[in-house]
Amino acid sequence: METNLKILRAGLRQQLKADRLLGLRQAPLRELPETREQARPGPAAGAANHEDRVAQLDTLNTQEVKDCRLCELCQTRTQTVFGQGSATARLVFVGEAPGYEEDKQGLTFVGRAGELLTRMIAAMGLTRDEVFICNVLKCRPPANRDPSAEEILACSPYLLRQLAIIDPEVIVALGAPAAKTLLKTAQSIGKLRGRFHDFPLGAAGSAARTVPLMPTYHPAYLLRSPSEKGKTWDDLLKVMAELGLKRPT
Ligand code: SF4
Repeated sequence: METNLKILRAGLRQQLKADRLLGLRQAPLRELPETREQARPGPAAGAANHEDRVAQLDTLNTQEVKDCRLCELCQTRTQTVFGQGSATARLVFVGEAPGYEEDKQGLTFVGRAGELLTRMIAAMGLTRDEVFICNVLKCRPPANRDPSAEEILACSPYLLRQLAIIDPEVIVALGAPAAKTLLKTAQSIGKLRGRFHDFPLGAAGSAARTVPLMPTYHPAYLLRSPSEKGKTWDDLLKVMAELGLKRPT
């Protein structure tokens, strides 16, 4: 009995620590969800090793994305923002488009929304270097306006190729534009979030497989609507369960 209480207390301490990292001081305590029953194949057979994938991503960036002029956003950007993180990440976060700071620095998710995403990743027991973070669009829309359908159509093939190279086990779509683009749906993020969707991943040099994709709220939205952080944390707990991650100690 005493042992069980110790385990329970340790578990609660771990969750409270993770909730504090995410900024959820009053987050409801919930059990870690079960891993999905559906069996899922592991990384595609013959998947490239780490160095190969680093080289493939670098080639895509330097030879195609960096000087891309496929849509009018090339006229107003400071620079393209390709994305950063591990080329063999098990988990990829996909946002909408670079903002002011990202456009200036050439990095994804910097500024206040980026800081919150960093805390979300830390609450999962990971670092930004262990995941990959990118956007649907590689150039900033002026004044952070919503991306147009034409811009998404022009740019999303780069994202699909990034995902195929990295070949992750789980994808998290941050916000409606990323979720709608990847899932090819018009459903709202409120309806999409909270459960996994199958995303067909055409891994480079191998047969296509489906990868679980979790839509959730964008950190910028969470900064405006902090009461929704609890739902996002629930979504991330499901992602952790899918990846077999334990809450950080
Ligand atoms: S947003 Fe994408 S498609 Fe448009 S110019 Fe930038 S990299 Fe090219």
